Amino acid sequence: MRARQSSIDANRQRQRPGSRTGHPLKLMSFEQRAELRKRYVRNIPRWRQPVVGYVLCIPLVVRALMTTLSVEHMLHHFYVFGSIEFLAVLFLAIFWGVGPAFSAVLVSTLLLDYFFIATPGKFWVQSWEDAIQLLPFIVAGITIAIITAQRERARLNALAAEHVLESYAQELEVSNQKLDDANQMKDRFLSIASHELKTPITTIRGQAQLILRRLSKQKELSPELESIRSTLARINEQTTRLTLLIDELLDVSSIRTGKMELRKRRCDLRELCSEVVNDQQLLTGRTITLDLPSTPVETHVDSDRLAQVMVNLIGNAVKYSPEGSPVEVHVCQNGEHALISVRDHGSGIDKDQQEHIFESFYRTPDAEASSKRGLGLGLAISKDIVERHRGRIWCESEPGQGSTFFVELPLR
Ligand code: ADP
Repeated sequence: MRARQSSIDANRQRQRPGSRTGHPLKLMSFEQRAELRKRYVRNIPRWRQPVVGYVLCIPLVVRALMTTLSVEHMLHHFYVFGSIEFLAVLFLAIFWGVGPAFSAVLVSTLLLDYFFIATPGKFWVQSWEDAIQLLPFIVAGITIAIITAQRERARLNALAAEHVLESYAQELEVSNQKLDDANQMKDRFLSIASHELKTPITTIRGQAQLILRRLSKQKELSPELESIRSTLARINEQTTRLTLLIDELLDVSSIRTGKMELRKRRCDLRELCSEVVNDQQLLTGRTITLDLPSTPVETHVDSDRLAQVMVNLIGNAVKYSPEGSPVEVHVCQNGEHALISVRDHGSGIDKDQQEHIFESFYRTPDAEASSKRGLGLGLAISKDIVERHRGRIWCESEPGQGSTFFVELPLR
């Protein structure tokens, strides 16, 4: 398996030449280079295609030679021999590249030799002293041609790197698409599974509650009936827990698919918080203090959803703090906003974990290690609900000093 993986990796390396070296061209096959060169030539304007340079090479070199001849005729002596031909080479190199520049060096050398250096009637130079006169022009011309070749190579390298990046981008797009599809499938599965689970669990819970109610009407229970009653109470407790978990999963699924709808209406946050605090106090048996302002805190919210946020924050405060410690809820108006805070005296949350607790399925290592159960969804759902109300939710906590969760909502 491992061997197969490494051969795939090697293949990939071959397909993406030079991705490690930074010189993509070096590792390209001959065909890939030819294809790249074609692409390069296609990208340059028509008047700068190499073929135009080859065609212009002869008239340019001849023009340079004629100018050299007339300058020599006027001055009787040429101080920088071959300089006008060199300009022609430079011109061709800049606009048409290495091929036409090299041809110009060759043709100019032959013409300079024939017209200025070789003995009349002969074509080739006869001595080394004569040949040396041509040397500066040849060296300068070839240097220009080499520099141009390097420039072209650098451009080809850049094009090859672009090509490699394009193939990476395409691969990435395909992977993203696959991930998206997998994600959608997971959300669909989550939603279908939760719905399918909810119906039988609600039935089991309903039946258990019905028998529990009947049993509670009996004055005295036989030991057998007493044991059935306590079993049913456990069934009721566990199915209630399961229903809550399924509700959380359904909420996450509707958040992801954008199906969570808000039914906003006028709401005094003082009433909403009082109700939630009373319920939680009865349910948990913990001391939950409530500090409210004397005037109404009018907001325009989905009160069921906001109550869900409060239940989650107070539930967490109760769950993650010691039995006897109080939980403090505070409501106030802060300029254009309503501010609710829920404070506990638990072990607190580390700074680096605070930025993750609002992510789906995240639980702190302390929570994971403890016996406190949870899916890590409550805060993610709360965040989504608060943000849909154009509000903010955040946490302030110091390890060992407890935590305070804040919810800020725009006033009506
Ligand atoms: P859970 O179901 O695990 O409680 P939540 O989304 O409500 O999921 O919270 C995410 C995590 O944030 C919790 O698992 C816990 O680690 C941490 N957390 C939340 N509230 C508190 C709190 N009041 N004190 C300490 N940790 C908290």
